[in-house]
Amino acid sequence: MPRKLAAGNWKMNGGPGSAAMLNALAEAHPAPDCDVLICPPAPLITTLVSLGTPFQIGAQDCHSAESGAHTGDTSAKLLKEIGASAAIVGHSERRTDHGETSATVAAKANAAMSAGLLAIICVGETEAERDGGRTLKVVGGQIAGSVPEDAEAQNLVIAYEPVWAIGTGRTPTIEQIAEVHDFIRETLIARFGDAGAEIRILYGGSVKPSNVEEIFAVPNVDGGLVGGASLKAEDFGPIVAAAST
Ligand code: PEP
Repeated sequence: MPRKLAAGNWKMNGGPGSAAMLNALAEAHPAPDCDVLICPPAPLITTLVSLGTPFQIGAQDCHSAESGAHTGDTSAKLLKEIGASAAIVGHSERRTDHGETSATVAAKANAAMSAGLLAIICVGETEAERDGGRTLKVVGGQIAGSVPEDAEAQNLVIAYEPVWAIGTGRTPTIEQIAEVHDFIRETLIARFGDAGAEIRILYGGSVKPSNVEEIFAVPNVDGGLVGGASLKAEDFGPIVAAAST
């Protein structure tokens, strides 16, 4: 079984004072028996890396190019150089807000892996797609289109995030989570062989202290990608603890 990963996506939240949150989390969980990753807004990466906590620091996005005329973007190469160890790519908010297609996501994931970052590729259906019985088709299509052709299994994480569960307080049933995670596992094994069994599949969408143990107990759930509940040490701490058991 892969080692679990508790990943926090701070989105456009946090500031210089966020160092206190990370220090509090480190004090409560000095040696977690899981990987812990915090993805703050890019300008905070250096500050959080410099704290020297037991946690990895990652980015919420990266550009597909190494450098060049791309105003406002950040390359995976630079993220690696300043101490980031991972990049989330293809989050539904970027697919929606920035019109990112699966081809864009694949190019970004490729850049992340080439730079030596873990690429966390997000996939997930909308509510209309689930209601229309198209969840597995949509998720399968997103994986086929977003995982780069020559992806290396050891640098790849898939985050299953139903769009309708993100930030809404709603979650799929345990059976629905199990169905999609089993499907993703089969898809990864079909593509990567035995290595596909070691690729972590995270669940994301309204994970919180009150539901995390039940969700993390589902087979093929290898941790979580957590938004709102990653912003406070008292909320994220129990999620780190659940990933450690
Ligand atoms: C996310 O942003 O990836 C997410 C899952 O958010 P939340 O936990 O707030 O639903």
